Amino acid sequence: MQEKSENQFSIEFFPPKTISGESKLDRVFDELSRLKPHFYSITYGANGSTKKGTQELTFRYQQKGGIIAPHISFGETSEKDIVSLLGEYKKSGVGRIVVLRGDRPNGSVDKLRYANELVEFIRKKTADQFHIDVACYPEIHPESDSIKTEVKHFKNKVDAGANSAITQYFYNPDAYFHYRDYCVQNGITIPIVPGIMPITNYDNLSRFSANCGAEIPRWLRSRLEELNGDKQGLQEYGIEVVTELCEKLLNGGAPGLHFYSMNLSASITKIWGNLSLSGKST
Ligand code: FAD
Repeated sequence: MQEKSENQFSIEFFPPKTISGESKLDRVFDELSRLKPHFYSITYGANGSTKKGTQELTFRYQQKGGIIAPHISFGETSEKDIVSLLGEYKKSGVGRIVVLRGDRPNGSVDKLRYANELVEFIRKKTADQFHIDVACYPEIHPESDSIKTEVKHFKNKVDAGANSAITQYFYNPDAYFHYRDYCVQNGITIPIVPGIMPITNYDNLSRFSANCGAEIPRWLRSRLEELNGDKQGLQEYGIEVVTELCEKLLNGGAPGLHFYSMNLSASITKIWGNLSLSGKST
């Protein structure tokens, strides 16, 4: 798929907490590598709780030949430690990072508060050494009171030096198109890549969505509730819905797709295959 398209396709993993989780992710990585995504990103646990895990996984999968973009947020990490982490990334050939505020830390030890400040800090310390991705929210971040505030704060990250953005997931393509157009009207011209969450587990999805402000439309929720308990049926239906979403997004000019894998490969592989077969990925 990569050869067929200039679009950016990427896949996100989180650092596993157990040895068996690591072995499972190694298999998932190998399976998804066949799809030749442009890069993989590795999340950074709230308050830097997976700092070591993020770093280790980044280096390990780099050695397996992947282009890895580790996520970074300040959490309870000091500025000095961020500079040292960036130095290690640079030394190992990491050229891309995803910069986030992360979930609000309890008793943060440094003065940085919002992601735009971290982007600015990283640019000040490392100039143009990294391609910086930031997060944005077509359905509005739970702490933003309006689309106007949302986009104003997104623009601060762009003005601070972000090169591209990845969105929170959503299931209504119009949310993305309206948001993208509003961003362009407000002078944001960097690529805004939709974040795509495959549907594999209704209870987890429902919980995540309530926390992060992503809407599960009524028509989708009611069907998923019906299928809850039928693992295979739910997954198949999820593949159908998410394939259609991806096709609409790409046909409407989205510059790529970023898959939240939840460290699973089956749905992404099928969705990707469907897009490739329908020839709508270019
Ligand atoms: P910000 O851009 O700082 O925005 C946070 C909120 O503050 C927004 O409501 C914004 O409008 C508001 N705001 C910004 N500036 C100001 C200001 N000056 N005054 C008042 N309000 C302001 N979390 C993790 O912990 N680890 C991860 O690895 C991770 N990866 C993610 C990847 C993607 C693609 C996405 C979409 C999210 C990810 N998250 C991750 C979740 C993210 O950390 C949370 O959504 C977090 O609450 C906001 O992070 P941000 O970088 O968007 O923050």
